[in-house]
Amino acid sequence: MIERTQDWDIRARGESCGDCGRPFADRETLYSRLTFGSDGYQRDDYCEPCWSRQKEEPALSVWQSVFRVPPPPPEEPLKKETVESLLRKLMEEGAPGALNTIYILAVMLERRRLLTEKDVQTRDDGMKVRVYEHRKTGETFLIPDPELKLSELEQVQEEVVIMLGGEPRNKAAENEEVSENEDKEEYEDEEEDEDV
Ligand SMILES: [Zn+2]
Repeated sequence: MIERTQDWDIRARGESCGDCGRPFADRETLYSRLTFGSDGYQRDDYCEPCWSRQKEEPALSVWQSVFRVPPPPPEEPLKKETVESLLRKLMEEGAPGALNTIYILAVMLERRRLLTEKDVQTRDDGMKVRVYEHRKTGETFLIPDPELKLSELEQVQEEVVIMLGGEPRNKAAENEEVSENEDKEEYEDEEEDEDV
């Protein structure tokens, strides 16, 4: 299970420094390092003083961010599938056929500024892997970039809209009875205007 069979991965941000063990304070600057070892991807987070002693060690990616105390989990489970919940579900399932869909969902979240790209790596097999950080939870999302052509991109986007419960664009255009409201719901997302 822990071999490099899984193409994508989510690595949670640590709640405390990986060296001195001190819990991070709200708004504290922290430093993150991504490495790849026999157990797969590993992410370590450090406070500033500890980082100054760690930074020379080899890593795939390093980045700096600001720690935010995570928001409490929502009281009710989300009823509607959102871009984010769909992305998490597909990544958890790890279905190889979902490569393109997962990439598109990640790009959608990046456009909504919920994911921030921190780095791009190139794997041994030549596949690009985009390293995103979730702006609220600080998790690292490792998303292989299938480098889709424009025509493929449109097709995958249609599939994603259907998965989110929307009407495919072509069909909606043909069918005049589809109300405008239904159409607009495709990209509705409750997280959209929570940017700080
Ligand atoms: Zn420390």
